[in-house]
Amino acid sequence: MIEKRAEKILEALRKNFTLPKWISSRHDPFETLIITIISQNTSDRNTAKAFENLSKKFPISPKKLANAETKEIEECLRVAGLYRNKARVIKEISKIVLEKFGDSLTPILSMPFENARETLMQLPGVGPKTADVLLLFSANQPTVPVDTHVNRVSKRLGLAPVNGDYEAVRNSLQLLYKPKDYLEIHILLILLGRKYCKARNPLCKPCPVNTLCPSRRS
Ligand code: SF4
Repeated sequence: MIEKRAEKILEALRKNFTLPKWISSRHDPFETLIITIISQNTSDRNTAKAFENLSKKFPISPKKLANAETKEIEECLRVAGLYRNKARVIKEISKIVLEKFGDSLTPILSMPFENARETLMQLPGVGPKTADVLLLFSANQPTVPVDTHVNRVSKRLGLAPVNGDYEAVRNSLQLLYKPKDYLEIHILLILLGRKYCKARNPLCKPCPVNTLCPSRRS
């Protein structure tokens, strides 16, 4: 039964990976949003460096970033690539949040889940993944963000339909796991994808869930 297998996969992943310490603390939603925009198409290391540059230069608030010079934001983000586009998006989002929601994302995150998700996705550069990351990490709302690792690994493990789109994968994972486990399964599937279930050459032999995986290669 798929539910039983899903449970065993979660147990095996818990035993084999350590969750990063930062996940237990609540994150400032606006900072999370800025980090998510910076992280598009770049490594964690470059994201961290660019965010550090930005926070040394400006307090990370909609008001400060809406009034900052675009050139100055660009300079901070240069290390993360696509820096012109990212700086433009950050400035635009900051202006909208400042004008419509009073210098904070809290009014959005306090809305009922579906309204909050829809409102977030109306912001420039915010798609379903970014909205779900914000809702899960900053508002403890029950959703499973589907990034490239979660998408690939959950399909290989048979936890989501092979041709499923973003919503199909998210719904499938949410039906298989309890809301209290959403954050954990999101992180654990990413860790599995990075270490073993790589896009090109999955390392099935040492993979800790290989006995539970229908896509295991011999
Ligand atoms: S057994 Fe292979 S395909 Fe399955 S999850 Fe592990 S690495 Fe991925």
